[in-house]
Amino acid sequence: MHVEDRSTISFMRSLCMGQIEEDLILPFPQMAAGEKDTLHDVGGALEGLLAPRREDFRTWDREADLPQAFLQELGEFGMFGLVIPEEHGGMGLKSMAYSRALQEVSKYDASLAVTIGAHCSIGMRGLLLFGTDEQRKRFYPKLVTGEMIAAFCLTEPGAGSDAASIQTTAVRQGDHWVLNGSKLWITNGGIADFFTIFAKTEQEDGRGKMTAFLVTRDMQGVSIGPHEDKMGLRSNPTTTVHLDGVAVPHENVLGEVGQGFKVAMMILNNGRTGLGGSSVGLMKQLIHLATQHATERKQFGRTISEFGLIKKKVAQMVVDCYAAESVVHMVAGLIDQGSKEYAVEAAISKVFASESSWRTADEALQIAGGNGYMREFPYERIVRDCRIYRIFEGTNEVLRLFIALTAMNDVASQLQELSHTMKGIFNHPIKGFGVMSDYARKQATLVSGFGGDKNKFTKLHPALKDQAAFFERETRYLATAVDRILRKHGKGIIGKQFASNRLAEIMIDLFVLACMLSRVNNSIETQGEEGAQREIDIVCMFTDKARSRMKHNFRRIDDNDDELAKALADDAFEAEGYRWDVI
Ligand SMILES: Cc1cc2nc3c(=O)[nH]c(=O)nc-3n(C[C@H](O)[C@H](O)[C@H](O)COP(=O)(O)OP(=O)(O)OC[C@H]3O[C@@H](n4cnc5c(N)ncnc54)[C@H](O)[C@@H]3O)c2cc1C
Repeated sequence: MHVEDRSTISFMRSLCMGQIEEDLILPFPQMAAGEKDTLHDVGGALEGLLAPRREDFRTWDREADLPQAFLQELGEFGMFGLVIPEEHGGMGLKSMAYSRALQEVSKYDASLAVTIGAHCSIGMRGLLLFGTDEQRKRFYPKLVTGEMIAAFCLTEPGAGSDAASIQTTAVRQGDHWVLNGSKLWITNGGIADFFTIFAKTEQEDGRGKMTAFLVTRDMQGVSIGPHEDKMGLRSNPTTTVHLDGVAVPHENVLGEVGQGFKVAMMILNNGRTGLGGSSVGLMKQLIHLATQHATERKQFGRTISEFGLIKKKVAQMVVDCYAAESVVHMVAGLIDQGSKEYAVEAAISKVFASESSWRTADEALQIAGGNGYMREFPYERIVRDCRIYRIFEGTNEVLRLFIALTAMNDVASQLQELSHTMKGIFNHPIKGFGVMSDYARKQATLVSGFGGDKNKFTKLHPALKDQAAFFERETRYLATAVDRILRKHGKGIIGKQFASNRLAEIMIDLFVLACMLSRVNNSIETQGEEGAQREIDIVCMFTDKARSRMKHNFRRIDDNDDELAKALADDAFEAEGYRWDVI
């Protein structure tokens, strides 16, 4: 009997086919009891370690400094071994617990969360995912204590979003590879001793294949540039990393030769829950600060918390935080359950969490008024710190394109298959009678809204029936829109960024809603409908806003001003500025 491998199914890719794979997201993922206990202990100890440092974090931000003594303290505490397996001396946290640990750190300082995150989420994650036993035994003992801090080196001056175009080369010479090139804006660059470096090992049509290498600072030819003067995350030493004829032993190749791009993307996907956790931690801290301020500050004889416009902002902050926490936790849960197909979902969590934290930081600063603008208060630092979340680890623009194009992949292959079948039908009309691919049949049921498999939620509590019905209807619209757009543009969809972006927006809303429904469902089951009423309210408020966003996005597929926008932009590019000065 054929047993379906559920780990290879992506919720979002299936959704684009009109299928709601509810078993992938229901029940809402739970942490194992043992891990919860570890996390509880870590949380308590972190508070003891970080709470007395609040003033230091402010000073280190101003002075762009991260003292060695503090790094050593963090190492002794075990912060560099969060994800390293217990048998190698680490805490062995899986994604859910790891993400939560970073949440706790970012409540105190986002820059510190990024320092730990760059080590655990990306710097040494390749070793965790692709390292050989020998490589792990060699490096884990130093990485776990922080004696070696890790960094991830992909970006170059000429290769940002287009990471495949890196120019750093690695040439095989006997049992070594000789690396030459420069890496730009490397988080932890100034304190790292262990670098996961990507270089071209084959040149084909100017792009070539890349390979990942484990490089240590003591290798001859490795040099580090000065600490960059940045807008935020100022205490983190972001630097260039130069490689000048660095001889790297062949046993330091990470993964397979020529598979470096895949390795890089897997690291980024797998590590996304770290950044997600940091975003959620910041949002929780901001809600704490904003509510505290709003209930203390009096204007017009009343506390500003009594004003409707302040309540509106705080309510939105709560909904955003709940939504971001649900999606980040779900993605971490998928990873912990062994999913192999979570790249689209992870990208959605990054885009949503980074944008929610940005909105929340901006609104919290607004609630604080003039105080929000003063360095004496933490708001402006958080605004500066979290701005980068939308840029690094894949810009949100590029990730939106990735979300849409990757999620539509299965539909594209089915359409291709269908077109071959159709060709077959025309070649052999008699044989072709009655031939209708599985996909075409599914499409027909989708359009009619009846029948079809897996196009309904069956496990959600009746209290969520309206949201479930809304989700099912929008899924049908999404699947029909994807089908129509792919038939219209074919491979040309790659160049249709306005269309892809719209689909990505719809997909983001749908996945976030699915994660929230799963979470609220769990709360209803454990606390009853009354106990979960506030959470039901949160999901209602999110659905209401998502409804109008989705309606707008679906409508704009056919009725839009894309060409007008392109023309206006081209005009500005040509003028290299604004043409319409009023005087
Ligand atoms: C503080 C900081 C820390 C960093 N840490 C690291 C690190 O540790 N390791 C590392 O390897 N890198 C790191 N980076 C680099 C970071 O990942 C890149 O900045 C990011 O990938 C974007 O590349 P870019 O800055 O060259 O922007 P570009 O790629 O030049 O993009 C510029 C703009 O064009 C848009 N754009 C680009 N391509 C497209 C497209 N196809 N369609 C539509 N829009 C597009 C982008 O979204 C962006 O808005 C860091 C950067 C910073 C600022």
